[in-house]
Amino acid sequence: MTDFLKLALAGVQGLAPYPPGKPIEEVEREYGVKNAAKLASNENPLGPSPKAIEAMQTAVKDVWLYPDGNGFNLKSRLASKLGVAMDMITLGNGSSDILQFVMQAYVDKDSEVIFSQHSFAIYPILTQMMGATAVVPPAKEWGNDLDAIAASVTECTRVIFIANPNNPTGTWLTGPELETFLAKVPERVIVVLDEAYFEYAIAPETGADAYPDGMLWIDKYPNLIVSRTFSKVYGLAGVRIGYGVCNAQLADVLNRVRPPFNVNSIALVGAEAALDDSEHVNKSVHINAAGLKRLYAGFEEMGLAFIPSAGNFVAVDLAQTAAPFYEALLREGVIVRPVANYQMPTYLRITVGSEEQNTKVLAALKKVLA
Ligand SMILES: *Cc1c(COP(=O)(O)O)cnc(C)c1O
Repeated sequence: MTDFLKLALAGVQGLAPYPPGKPIEEVEREYGVKNAAKLASNENPLGPSPKAIEAMQTAVKDVWLYPDGNGFNLKSRLASKLGVAMDMITLGNGSSDILQFVMQAYVDKDSEVIFSQHSFAIYPILTQMMGATAVVPPAKEWGNDLDAIAASVTECTRVIFIANPNNPTGTWLTGPELETFLAKVPERVIVVLDEAYFEYAIAPETGADAYPDGMLWIDKYPNLIVSRTFSKVYGLAGVRIGYGVCNAQLADVLNRVRPPFNVNSIALVGAEAALDDSEHVNKSVHINAAGLKRLYAGFEEMGLAFIPSAGNFVAVDLAQTAAPFYEALLREGVIVRPVANYQMPTYLRITVGSEEQNTKVLAALKKVLA
């Protein structure tokens, strides 16, 4: 038989798929546990807004029709909320879709793509997929070292990824830090500011001092793309929808590589209804802030160090190889995320859950560490 792996493009041959969080059903089946708590993928424990659920249920009867390929209603809703023009918005099947469009439009095998050590796993995967070269400056205090990133720009640099806050470390950059950085980067280099956790980070109660709204720089920096998602605070990870905002010409390029009908009709109406329910967002943010404090206190009680987070997750240091404890937690019915693939072998990333789930993970952690 033909070796179809060898036949694949060079970048694809070396590709390892993104490791997703372990599904609840799989853990319950494999470990014989019930009511497993999944705190592995930074999902909102409250789920989506009831208004979004209702809108999606109503939309089910129309699934025989293709969705609006331009996402007119959602884009116009987003445009007025964000104070941008509709033609500056690109909709994605999750915000990862937007990141992929940027890469497809601007990166080839001769390109360099810069992202920090300990940053989101999708960035190296997309870079590898394009057969491009990843340039990975060391992190500074677990976060993006913007000076090192700016200093890494060469003639070959096409794209820079910055997650704010960063996943899996939860670290965040302030407005002045980002502004200084943006001013340094040549305009021909595209900067993707990944704000997947924006709604959590911007909330004063989360405690992320001076966390900036990236949209403020869109007009000033035409090479800036801000990406956001409905997967996190809006609780719609399962229907896959996110968006990017940038200057209209750049958005036009992204829309050229966007596959037709990439966002489904259920997601479009769910997202629109979710945007309107600010009460649900506020409640989610509030529960998250309380949960973060609770986890921090629990870790302190156990003598564990952690990285303060601006998101709905926290990286905790077990001060020893974390993999066996990840396994032991699965047996206790708690799914967290090992982050050895992020060069953090002694850490676990734990999503902030409901009060009950937070109690469960702290008790399980105490038990397995004893
Ligand atoms: C969760 C996450 C995303 C969002 O992914 P979707 O494709 O929108 O579900 C993007 N960036 C980071 C850093 C994330 O953690």
